Amino acid sequence: MNNKVMNDKKVLVIPCSGIGKPIGTVSRETAYKIVENLRKEKCQTICLALLTSGDKETIDKVKKNYCITIDGCAKHCAKKNVEACNKTPDKSYMILKFAAANPDKKPEGIIDIGNGGRKLVNTIASQIAKDIDKLTKNKVEVSVNERK
Ligand code: SF4
Repeated sequence: MNNKVMNDKKVLVIPCSGIGKPIGTVSRETAYKIVENLRKEKCQTICLALLTSGDKETIDKVKKNYCITIDGCAKHCAKKNVEACNKTPDKSYMILKFAAANPDKKPEGIIDIGNGGRKLVNTIASQIAKDIDKLTKNKVEVSVNERK
């Protein structure tokens, strides 16, 4: 008996809202870069506010798919909201850590993160793209027994 089925799970890339901080803008722009450019076919994003407000359709989507959270700072707003749905993110990132490790790639402003900020976005997005490839590596076939 063939117990293999298609794994059609997407990767949800979920940035914090980050309004008011350049690192928050970096968080959102990193998510856009991945979802609209680097890994368009494998990813989606969601509105974090829908999770916060308990929207059932959004919570269901989070539970059924892989999740990668991107937070600006150690408050971890995106990660905490995913965890509040009883889901542990498959990967979670914090922009401040990347910024500390890449002092030459400093975001400038909230609206325009400047060249330094864009370089930081590219660095983080490339790292996350690799994780997405790992998560979706066994996309074609997964054992029925492994499905959640
Ligand atoms: S994680 Fe930090 S930057 Fe992002 S929304 Fe929360 S407080 Fe703002």
